[in-house]
Amino acid sequence: MAGEPQADCLFCKIVSGEVPATVVRETDTTVAFRDINPQAPTHVLVIPKVHYSDAASLAAAEPQITADVLREAGGVAADEKLDETGYRVVFNTGSGAGQTVFHAHAHVLGGRGLNWPPG
Ligand code: C5P
Repeated sequence: MAGEPQADCLFCKIVSGEVPATVVRETDTTVAFRDINPQAPTHVLVIPKVHYSDAASLAAAEPQITADVLREAGGVAADEKLDETGYRVVFNTGSGAGQTVFHAHAHVLGGRGLNWPPG
């Protein structure tokens, strides 16, 4: 069923606690944890607890939870004091854009200069 945990999904296992993660924020609908392979001094992933393969699928089915993810991304930035220096929120979507885990997630990146356009 849409949104249900998937047995083979790494991020569903982080939601359930089966796979450990360094959690920095949690709400009823979201979890935020540090990326294991950080690309910036702050690199946190914000995920919905429900399973959708990417951000667009999540937004179509669960607009309120999508808003929760974005609000929590802002919360991470505030916690890490990135809101003054600037930060980036990225949803890689599709393998051609670098998506490797097919459970919607926002990357929150900051703490260094961020080039534009991104690579
Ligand atoms: O956008 P993409 O799908 O590539 O992002 C997945 C992210 O999940 C990667 O940045 C990877 O380092 C991270 N990851 C993690 N913990 C794991 C496995 C992957 O933080 N156990």
